[in-house]
Amino acid sequence: MKCRMCGFEFDETKIENRGCVSCGKHGCNSIHCPNCGFANSPELDQEFKFIEKLKNKIRKKATN
Ligand SMILES: [Zn+2]
Ligand SMILES: [Zn+2]
Repeated sequence: MKCRMCGFEFDETKIENRGCVSCGKHGCNSIHCPNCGFANSPELDQEFKFIEKLKNKIRKKATN
């Protein structure tokens, strides 16, 4: 996945505990970026993709 904070790309399946070692909330549902430590929420990522799809639909409508 790609970190939303710094844009660093990493494989979240290869990070132990989803990188959640120093955030204080051990076992939180977020995937921490190994580069900046930002907690990327997987739910938010799905939402983001959904919004992107919506945006594309709107764009297509506008051009047709
Ligand atoms: Zn955490
Ligand atoms: Zn990052």
